[in-house]
Amino acid sequence: APTPLIAGNWKMNGLLKELGELQTLAEAAGAGLNQGRDILICPPATMLSASFGILGNHVAVGGQDCHSAESGAHTGDISAAMLKDVGARYVIVGHSERRADHGESDELVRAKAEAAMAAGLIAVICIGETEAERDADATIDVLARQLASSLPDDMDGNRVVVAYEPVWAIGTGKTPTADDVRHIHDFIRRTLVERFGDAGNGVRILYGGSVKPGNAAELLAIDNVDGALVGGASLKASDFIAICQAS
Ligand code: 13P
Repeated sequence: APTPLIAGNWKMNGLLKELGELQTLAEAAGAGLNQGRDILICPPATMLSASFGILGNHVAVGGQDCHSAESGAHTGDISAAMLKDVGARYVIVGHSERRADHGESDELVRAKAEAAMAAGLIAVICIGETEAERDADATIDVLARQLASSLPDDMDGNRVVVAYEPVWAIGTGKTPTADDVRHIHDFIRRTLVERFGDAGNGVRILYGGSVKPGNAAELLAIDNVDGALVGGASLKASDFIAICQAS
């Protein structure tokens, strides 16, 4: 099985005064928390440089989004090369909040993933169904479409991570049952292997959506759950460390 990845997505949270949380995390990682697992923090872009300075090589840092173009007239946007330039090793693309807030299509997400890979970053490509889609029993259809259209053709586990985040589980305290997670991650794995052959076995499939210290061990023990993408609980070092320890 691939090395687990525990990733924190700070979303639009975090001022420089919160760097102390990362200091705590860096100390824990330096004391062995990063043994046997990869740890990643995706702070807001404004904190990337300082975060990299604190986390160094113990804990990876990543962006939360990038533009699909290499550079140019795109006011307010950030390129993959800029993220790489300040120490990022990963970038999240296609998070449901970007798909919803900014109307990002599967095709755009794929272009962003390709831009990330071209810049030497690992793309964390997010997929997941909404509550309405789930209620309509369309979950598998939605995930199949997102996987087919959001993933680049040329990829492997060293360059791409897939994160399954049911939209209705994000920030709600609700999570799917372990059986549902097992079933869906198994479907994602089979889809990856069908398309990419054995390389599909090396792609880490993260679960995201209300991962907390109290449920992390159960979620992370499920087959084909190769880590977690953690929102709210990644903001406090003690909670995030507890989740890392559960993997
Ligand atoms: P929460 O852990 O706050 O539910 O957020 C999940 C998420 O969207 C991570 O990208």
